[in-house]
Amino acid sequence: MDELLQQAKITAQVHKKMEAILCHLQLDMWKMMELNCRRKASDLIVTPATTFKEKPDPNGLVFGTVFTDNMLTIEWSLASGWEKPYIKPLENLSLHPASSSLHYAIEPRGQTEENLVSLLWLNEYTVGITKSDEFGIPSPFSLPSMMQCVNLDLLNSRSSSCDLFEGMKAYRGVDGKIRLFRPTLNMDRMARSARRTTLPSFDQNELLECIRKLVEVEKEWVPYSTTASLYIRPTLIGTEPSLGVKKPTKALLYVILSPVGPYFASGSFNPISLWADPKYVRAWKGGTGDCKVGGNYGSAIYAQQEALEFGCQQVLWLYGEDHQITEVGTMNLFLYWINEDGENELATPPLDGIILPGVTRQSILDLARSWGEFKVSERYITMSDLTTALEEDRVKEMFGAGTACVVCPISKILYKGKDFFRCEQLFSGTGAGVTNEKLMGRTDSISHAS
Ligand SMILES: *Cc1c(COP(=O)(O)O)cnc(C)c1O
Repeated sequence: MDELLQQAKITAQVHKKMEAILCHLQLDMWKMMELNCRRKASDLIVTPATTFKEKPDPNGLVFGTVFTDNMLTIEWSLASGWEKPYIKPLENLSLHPASSSLHYAIEPRGQTEENLVSLLWLNEYTVGITKSDEFGIPSPFSLPSMMQCVNLDLLNSRSSSCDLFEGMKAYRGVDGKIRLFRPTLNMDRMARSARRTTLPSFDQNELLECIRKLVEVEKEWVPYSTTASLYIRPTLIGTEPSLGVKKPTKALLYVILSPVGPYFASGSFNPISLWADPKYVRAWKGGTGDCKVGGNYGSAIYAQQEALEFGCQQVLWLYGEDHQITEVGTMNLFLYWINEDGENELATPPLDGIILPGVTRQSILDLARSWGEFKVSERYITMSDLTTALEEDRVKEMFGAGTACVVCPISKILYKGKDFFRCEQLFSGTGAGVTNEKLMGRTDSISHAS
């Protein structure tokens, strides 16, 4: 394993640099928002908790299990628009049992054929047969094409409801200041998700100001640590008390905070193994894969379970007849390799509608382009491109990128070819980085600096 980590030089370089930026805050151009620099959101009503939970040890945190004392809530209705925002003690939500977000958020995607059949009968009104080929979706091996169509149409109807979320972080810098990492990009994305799910639009600056205020109230929850941070989870749900599949006339926006520890125990990388099988699809053209909407994730757990059964930690999501590689679990994917033209290239799939436009992804692209040391591309990569490159020993590194882990190296991919239960290929994604020797020095200097 040591050897494997030694070889993952670009990944280490990106990871170290991101870590340095997050904790030591070197790149002003990224507009990280300082906590103590903005006016109050004028209508905010702050009645914070008067009893306080004990703050956990930042080294023992399990992601998303501990929450701070307070939350932000803002209600919306078609009749009266956005109500006053509240910062108040964290409490259970009280929702009408017909609330749209409770009924129409979990997608049938990734289900078994039997489940799809029952969904077909339960949802006759959503069925409209369209030629699946028009959508360019791959043919799952076990599903007749009509099932695909049903699946797709169910999803398209489901897309009109009713929950979305964001994930961002507040870091305590070595200078003691608390900063949010590029939060305006999260607000932009949240606004796009709201539009796509017919949830109400909101003023991004005002919401960010309310979030800033919440973090300020909870500032002691931002870990005093260079490896832990405060995860911020804005959420917007439809609360329409009606079973109709339609644009909600009531909604609730709330924000909760959770201190999260180092994703990599001992501050080092934990390379992950991936399971790639085209029978499950995370997202497709015309769908909601480019939005952070809840329904994209519930169904992914089924495939994630199967990945675990195959001894892998995450799903490598494939797309299309040519098995394009798209994302890893809930992270964007990067490949550092020698491309078909013999160039050193850092590649990630383009934002063509099925890729979630990650803030970390964008930051890594910006960073790598600023280095100017190798080609940086947003381009398609198929499994056949990848396997050919592996055979020719051109793959240097692969890694996932997202707010939760920042950068996560990939060590193995279990790929099931067209012969469903045969033709398994197990390979390592970290070949020796011959051309990277010079980068190692740089990685070292960054790590020593940080
Ligand atoms: C959230 C998410 C990412 C990463 O986005 P960041 O803004 O970098 O956290 C990537 N892919 C999926 C599917 C996601 O949900």
